[in-house]
Amino acid sequence: MRQSTKVFILLSLMIFLLDGAFVVLNYFFARNALESSIVEQGKQRKTAYDIALSLTYDNMLQIATYVANDKRIQNTFLRGKNAVENSGSNFEQPEVRTIQKELFSYVESSWRQMTSKFLVRQLHFHLGPGSLSFLRVHRPNKNGDRMDDVRFTIVDTNKELSPRTGFETGRVYSGLRGVVPVFATDPVTGSHVHVGALEAGTSFTNVIKQLSEQLESNVAILLTEKHVKAAMWPQAIESHFTRRNEPCNCYLEATSNNEIIELIKQPGIHATTQDVRTDVIPLHDRHIALSRFALRDYKGMRDPGRQQAGGVFLWWDISREVSAFQHGQQVNLLYAVIVFLAIELLLFFAIRLVTERLEVVVTKRTEEIHCLNRKLYEQANSDSLTGLYNRRYFMQRLHEEISRSTRYHKSFSLLTVDLDHFKQINDNYGHATGDQVLTSVSNAIKESIRGSDISCRFGGEEFCILLPENNLQQALNEAERLRIKIELLQIERDGNEIAITASIGVAVWHIGIHAEELLEHSDNALYQAKQSGRNQVRAYQTSDTAI
Ligand code: GH3
Ligand code: MG
Ligand code: MG
Repeated sequence: MRQSTKVFILLSLMIFLLDGAFVVLNYFFARNALESSIVEQGKQRKTAYDIALSLTYDNMLQIATYVANDKRIQNTFLRGKNAVENSGSNFEQPEVRTIQKELFSYVESSWRQMTSKFLVRQLHFHLGPGSLSFLRVHRPNKNGDRMDDVRFTIVDTNKELSPRTGFETGRVYSGLRGVVPVFATDPVTGSHVHVGALEAGTSFTNVIKQLSEQLESNVAILLTEKHVKAAMWPQAIESHFTRRNEPCNCYLEATSNNEIIELIKQPGIHATTQDVRTDVIPLHDRHIALSRFALRDYKGMRDPGRQQAGGVFLWWDISREVSAFQHGQQVNLLYAVIVFLAIELLLFFAIRLVTERLEVVVTKRTEEIHCLNRKLYEQANSDSLTGLYNRRYFMQRLHEEISRSTRYHKSFSLLTVDLDHFKQINDNYGHATGDQVLTSVSNAIKESIRGSDISCRFGGEEFCILLPENNLQQALNEAERLRIKIELLQIERDGNEIAITASIGVAVWHIGIHAEELLEHSDNALYQAKQSGRNQVRAYQTSDTAI
């Protein structure tokens, strides 16, 4: 794999990881922001719920106060109290009945108006101490019962003579109550006396719709099984609630929407929870934010150590927020892909540009190195004075030629050229002139040989020439031509023409002859030429060769 490809892949991987990290981080930040916003919405709705509930209690107190401030009602209630005491709490006694009816007639018309306007459901006169029912305006035929152990708002109001509000579960149903003490002026003594308590109550079922509109979310009130069983009669539980819900073990007291039944089936959704807790729950093709917090009854409000009565559940559709979040993520992903591809494209072209430029530089450098190598090679193989090949290179080529000729059953010839009386030239004209003569003879050799021939300065004033595929006769002809060419060279010094001649030995290679042997043969022939008077060509003589 090319280096540039590796760099491209590595950088691409890094960009991909960075891009991916950006997408993941963005996802988590956006999700966190969405979750925080939903949790915040849950807290705000809880605050709104608290305000709405306290307004409901205020309404109940106002209604109770309004009725309790009526002098006729105060006096009649006082008479009723005295009648009950005189009868030994016998509610069947005619006087008691008469006073109850009288009291009922005073409140009946305003009670009708209240129920239609203020969602009030109960108006109940109680005698103290504790709670003894004197008149249920909402159910006039039922009275005389004691509720000391369930109606603590009444018990406390009668005891402390101050108003009380709170949620309480009675024997039959639960209520949101506002209770005020009722006082009257004693007609005998003229003193201000406490008569009993007046309770105005409503239920979550009555206010749930209004509550839901105020909070802009669905509302459900769930009561724990423990709370329900501690307060209500078993028959009342059966008739009031359609079922006990699992897995929360809770009863649905009131709801603005029945989908709460499905929501509380989700794992981890309990009726009891202390702080406001908000979860996102997928429901069919929607997303629901479900907030829930503790519902405390009147006793629980006074004693935080008591277990909660149940839970308040608020839920609203957040499908739009969730799909906006999902859309945002898709857009982010798309951007990330586009950015990645754009960077990849830029990277690709940048790397290609750099690579091309580098390749130009590298090619140039490589050529320079090749050129340098060639020069070094030539320098290593050639003679510095004459430019002919040197002895080492010649020997290498001689061995190669022997191999080649052996393989193809060919023959070749070798000339050994030695300048005659060269020492005298040095002696007579100086070493520099001798060098000049050597250069001139070398040039003559270069000019006279073929491209396939190999010539070298073998040493001093001795040259060797290899003539591939030349037989003896061809070699002798070549040698003679060269000898004449050397003889004709004209170099003048001090007005004298320097006489230059050369003796040439010729040997022919045959299969089986080693390089050293061949050199020896041609050297022998050269010796013959020298012996025969120099400036002549001689062939190596064997029993089977002849000139
Ligand atoms: P012969 O005819 O027997 O070959 O006699 P010669 O003088 O040519 O032979 P000899 O071997 O006596 O002398 C060779 C001379 O070549 C001796 C040496 O100083 C000279 N010589 C060798 N190399 C160089 C060189 O590079 N430059 C010069 N100027 N002279 C050289
Ligand atoms: Mg010589
Ligand atoms: Mg010599």
